[in-house]
Amino acid sequence: MRGKSTTPRIETIAIHAARNADQKVGAVVPPIHLSTTYVRGNDGDFEYSRTGGPTRLALEEILNRLEDGAGAVAFASGMAAVAAVFQSFQHGDHVILPDDTYFGVRKFVTKILARWGLAYTIVDMTDLENVRNALQPNTKMIWAESPSNPMLKIVDIAAVADIAHNAGAKLGVDATWSTPILQHSLALGADYAVHSTTKYLGGHNDLLGGVVVVREKNVFFERIREMQVTGGSVPSGFDAWLLLRGIRTLPYRMRAHCSNAMKVACFLEDHPQIHTVHYPGLESHPGHEIAKRQMEDFGGMLSVQVKGGAKKAAAVARSTKVFLRATSLGGVESLIDHRAPVEDPGTKTPDDLLRLSVGLEHPDDLIEDLAQALA
Ligand code: PLP
Repeated sequence: MRGKSTTPRIETIAIHAARNADQKVGAVVPPIHLSTTYVRGNDGDFEYSRTGGPTRLALEEILNRLEDGAGAVAFASGMAAVAAVFQSFQHGDHVILPDDTYFGVRKFVTKILARWGLAYTIVDMTDLENVRNALQPNTKMIWAESPSNPMLKIVDIAAVADIAHNAGAKLGVDATWSTPILQHSLALGADYAVHSTTKYLGGHNDLLGGVVVVREKNVFFERIREMQVTGGSVPSGFDAWLLLRGIRTLPYRMRAHCSNAMKVACFLEDHPQIHTVHYPGLESHPGHEIAKRQMEDFGGMLSVQVKGGAKKAAAVARSTKVFLRATSLGGVESLIDHRAPVEDPGTKTPDDLLRLSVGLEHPDDLIEDLAQALA
């Protein structure tokens, strides 16, 4: 798999792959281009920044290298990237979704695309039989998210890819929580690896972005590209440049996120005020064996269920001092989010669940902070 045997290795790619962006003056750091329009006949052949520009091009090249894909399309947000994948299908097509997926994705498909005639079935994808049973003659895509938001369910990507391909369908994987460093979704068989780059790839809670990386350039890739340039959800030059900067430290940040999260998960697993810890790195997690096989490490996200219900969970989230009470994830700051109230009414997320984005502070400070908040 990528990252183990290929050279240059992923740490080197992350630092150097965008450098070609400027050879004229020898700048070590790629320049930022903010121009919205370009004089005709220039070398880069750029016209207008919605249809393309040098900073976005450098970003797409490095994102494609990180996933070892055939092409990458960068968007203004993770949701814009997700939307473009689903909008490459049409009225009357059918898709299969996992029962635990970022609630924005579920909402987009069930509330917006359903109105436009896209049919869907929602299943618990940890049981492959459910996926097989949900197939219909018009199934065009299976959508997986692994680890999932917020329950950290693990989907066997290679097995679901086989099911999809045998049925003539595509597999899209939202790999935001695993990143291209920890999981090689395309190598496992996915047709699309999708990331909210707002999260780990950016890594500093200061930009919004998304990307679709494809295993093969085909008519669906062209449609996704069309959604980008014609639909217009493109990242600004500044966001693209910030993302290029964040990516340079991604492999090392991920190591520290994983190491800190494992320590926090072990502490919480033994805590008397916690009844369940959802972290695929723990042997008690039902997806642990699959995660061990398909991930390089287990990630920086975990969720816990607190004894004492919703009220107690809300009180704990209000009591942390190092963990900031905020939504989103993947940045250097640790965040804690009482999830159910954030999601749509009717969400299946348990109301005693706290989602933790474990950042890069010292792990002992994180553990002491949780200990005092739970006391
Ligand atoms: N996918 C996952 C798994 C997410 O966690 C999120 C946001 O939290 C998104 C997609 C949406 O990304 P964005 O907020 O950049 O639109």
